[in-house]
Amino acid sequence: MSDAILFVLSAPSGCGKTTILRKVMAGLPGLVFSVSHTTRQPRPGEENGRDYHFVGREEFLSMREATPSGFLEWAEVHNNLYGTGRAEVERQLRAGRDIILDIDVQGALQVQEAAAPVMIFIAPPSLAELETRLRRRGTEGEETIRLRLDNARQELRFTDRYDYLIINDRLEEAVDGLRSIIIAERCRRRRSPAGLPVSAAF
Ligand code: ADP
Ligand code: 5GP
Repeated sequence: MSDAILFVLSAPSGCGKTTILRKVMAGLPGLVFSVSHTTRQPRPGEENGRDYHFVGREEFLSMREATPSGFLEWAEVHNNLYGTGRAEVERQLRAGRDIILDIDVQGALQVQEAAAPVMIFIAPPSLAELETRLRRRGTEGEETIRLRLDNARQELRFTDRYDYLIINDRLEEAVDGLRSIIIAERCRRRRSPAGLPVSAAF
């Protein structure tokens, strides 16, 4: 059996998760990003197949209703549907590659029920700072910003369901935090072949 690791990363929108993840992934071979499906419109600079699989609502729903469901988990977030393709995650784990899911709290709790992921939460230093970042990014209108801030308040209530919490205050420290967690999880003794303590292999 593969001992590849399933990482789940959640953060309220605008916290800096994409920025942190890009930096961490650039320096960590063997870690792949799970490209989700979404019915949301692409933002400027986003690429289909790299950032998301951008699909219509009908395509999303037919994948979701398939038996077994085409999604490992799915959720409605900010009035759009998002889901993690089951086949892709299984393929990567079987190939021995660690995979990281960037998903919201509702989806993370579903994955936690079905598998044994390492759960990581990224929080902003404050809600005021989160609002500043969302506005500075400039990709959402006023109504969407309000919706994302309300959602952030809800999501922050679930941090105790996660194994790790990173506060993204200084960006470089948050990047170091995430990188360190991934490296430490890879070094866990139970990850040795057959789950035995390393000493048993000698
Ligand atoms: P998310 O993927 O969580 O929605 P982004 O990575 O798009 O968030 O970041 C939102 C905005 O905040 C971006 O403009 C990004 O450059 C900025 N940002 C990210 N981390 C920090 C930080 N530690 N300090 C200040 N600005 C940050
Ligand atoms: P955004 O629209 O800003 O890219 O993402 C909005 C929210 O949807 C973020 O919290 C992000 O983590 C979450 N999200 C992205 N992909 C998925 C997914 O496949 N499943 C779930 N449940 N949430 C997702």
